[in-house]
This record gives sequence, C-alpha cells and structure tokens, in this order.
Amino acid sequence: MRILLAAFLACSAYAQTRPVVITAARMIDGISDRVITPGLVVAFGGKIRPASEAPRDAETIDLGDATILPGFIDAHTHLTLPYEADYRNFQLSTIEKNVAERALDAAAIARITLLAGFTSVRDVGAHDFVDAGLRNAIRNGKVPGPRMLVSTSAIGATGGHCDDLSGYAYNTFGRESGIADGVANGPDQMRAAVRFAIKYGADVIKTCATGGVLSLTDDVDTPQLTQAELDALVDEAHSLRRKTAAHAHGAEGAKRAIRAGIDSIEHGSFLDDEALELMKTKGTYYVPTLMAAVGLREALEKGYFPPAVAAKARSAAASLDNTVRKAIAKQVKIAVGTDAGVYPHGRNAGEFVELVRLGMKPMDAIKAGTSIDAQLLGISQITGSLEPNKSADIVVVSGNPLDDIKSVQNVIFVMKEGIVYKNDSRR
Ligand SMILES: [Zn+2]
Repeated sequence: MRILLAAFLACSAYAQTRPVVITAARMIDGISDRVITPGLVVAFGGKIRPASEAPRDAETIDLGDATILPGFIDAHTHLTLPYEADYRNFQLSTIEKNVAERALDAAAIARITLLAGFTSVRDVGAHDFVDAGLRNAIRNGKVPGPRMLVSTSAIGATGGHCDDLSGYAYNTFGRESGIADGVANGPDQMRAAVRFAIKYGADVIKTCATGGVLSLTDDVDTPQLTQAELDALVDEAHSLRRKTAAHAHGAEGAKRAIRAGIDSIEHGSFLDDEALELMKTKGTYYVPTLMAAVGLREALEKGYFPPAVAAKARSAAASLDNTVRKAIAKQVKIAVGTDAGVYPHGRNAGEFVELVRLGMKPMDAIKAGTSIDAQLLGISQITGSLEPNKSADIVVVSGNPLDDIKSVQNVIFVMKEGIVYKNDSRR
C-alpha cells in the first residue's frame, strides 16, 4: 500500500512535468487490426502524443515482453454495489450502511476497478446518487478511479426489476417508491423520471425493460414496460442528449426497447433471432455481461440463492452462451460490460476471456472493450484507442493477449489521463 501510494505521488508529479515514453514488445491500438512491434507510446500533458515527438529528456518505462493496450472500458458496472455472494447479505447490505459508508466502500471499489486496467466505466444503477458523487470525486482528483458515466437510479415500472432491487430493500414496506427512486408508470412518468435523473447528475439513462435474476417478485423474461413507455423514455433521454441502456433478458421486452431506439441491450439472455436481426439493422449494441453469469454460477454452486432466484439464475445463465454465440456469428455490435458487483469487483477483464470462449476473435474482444465501448458511451473523441490527442489512458498486460486472451487479466501497468496508478516495472 505504501509503495503504491509513493508510486502514485511520484508519477503524478512526472505526469505534470515530464513526457513519459512507455515501451513493450508489442502494442495494439484498439481500433485497427495491427500489432505494432515494438510497442511505443508517448504521454505528455495527460494526452497521447505522436511517437515522433518523443523528446530526449522523457522518462522511459519499459515493460518488456508485454502488450500496450488502450485503457479498458466496462459498459456495465455497479461500483456502488459491494459484492456479496450470499443473497441475504446482498439484500441486507443495501440497508445496513448509511450513505457515507456506502460512498467510502464505492471509492475503494473504484480503485480496485482502475487497477484492474479499467480507465472508464458506465455505471448503470445506484442509490442515493452515490454514483454521481463518486464520479465527481474521481474527476476532481480526490480519489483514484475510472472515468465514470453514471445513470443514478435505473428507471422501471412498479414491481419490476428496477423497483424490486430498490423498492423493497430501500423503502421497506409502507412507503411506495416513486419517480425519485426511478419507479415510473406510463409515458408521462417515464419522461418525468428521465428529467429527474438528469437533474441529479445522470450521464446515461438505464431502464429495466424485462424482469431480472436477482429480484424476488418477477419472472426473468417478461416485459415490464409498454412500447409507449419505452418510446417516451428513449425520446426524452435522446432529446436531452443522453444515451440509453436497457436491462433486458426476455426477447419481447428487448424488442420493444430496440424499436424505441435504445442504444444498448444489457444481458439479453433470451434474445431470439428476430431481436438480434433488429439490433443489427438498427445498430443497437449488445452488452451480454457474461461475467454476471460467471458470478451467478459461482453463487449457485455454493447454494447462496433462495429457490426462486436460483431457478432464474440457472435458466438465464444456461441460455446466455448460445445467444452470444449467435450474436457473434450475426456480427451484432458487441460491447464489453460485466455487471461488476454480481461477481467480485476487479475480475472485470474476465469478460474478454468469456467472449473469446464463445467464439469471438481475441482482437475483436479487445476492440469490444476499448474502441467499441467508447463509441457506445459516446466518448470516442476522448478515449478507447491509442491515437495522438486521445487521453493518455494506457494499460500494459504481460505476454500477448492474441496468443492467450487470459493475459488481459495480468495487468502490469495502468495510466489514466497521464497519471500512473500501477507500474510493476519498478519492482
Ligand atoms: Zn447490472
């Protein structure tokens, strides 16, 4: 810990005053299919500079037989949700801590996520605006963490997945949840809920178009919003220049969201051919969150779920692999998102491994978690590839991920906006 802190302080000073040249055996830029050997990237003033501008007085960091990559992006995190394998503890964890304690927990999780190589995240659902506070604290340099796009409360119908996870746990019985909790019914309330979320800091609008796995009172695959509700939600969000993401396991709810113009479908466990074709036609991104299924399988093995949740976890996890294989074959735009919090934080890079297991080429998986994610998040002007004038968000992994994708889980160097947060070459 002391070593890391010292490295952090020293390197932030370097980042302000001296250019840094990072070298390794190879480099993948996140946007082309090229492998550049040897790898070399110049960072100065928080930005990537053309290699030709490497000044002689630069500090050089050589990482050896390793691969330089753009900082990873996770399009589906819950940094405000500490991982709890046991379902009862998971439910209790949302009420037994006050807002301040939950915010401090979230700051610790943000740091873990950054050190796992993730320099940007889209955080999709939080309570009490802890996500917006954390985003601001990171942006202002108060705590280390990834660049965050946040949604505040996810928006859904009474009794739906977004209500169950917030309604019961938060309000207990007696006070019905409403727009301030992200619970809305009918097109007008959908617009009001979007406006409310944006007023309190939402960069992106997240909705629950179908049931979910970890909620107690719904089926996992039924639609939970009408076409008119989704149309209103997406229209209002897009009018206010916010992108939209829909939690959707079932095909019917997903198709309503896709027809409404949603920017991404999350999970998509039971997407049928028609839904996948529609996504391809409309350019909708698919964020399968395969690591969520990994987390569910691990919890199932330990018997941590009540029977109703266990049955839903089993059926969703069983269907997801086949859906993702089909989506890869159909060339639907797939983005990396993990549902961090449903499995232990810090294992986010496992999503790359899962995508390759299901048939994606390693180079395509890397792009999915860098430049394609940046497009989905609307931040490709800033990050997502190793190109001059982009933010110096740089990750180095040992070995070659094209030979063995698991190497993305062995992150040895992390720089975000020109500041070094991890550097194993100093050992
Ligand atoms: Zn989620």
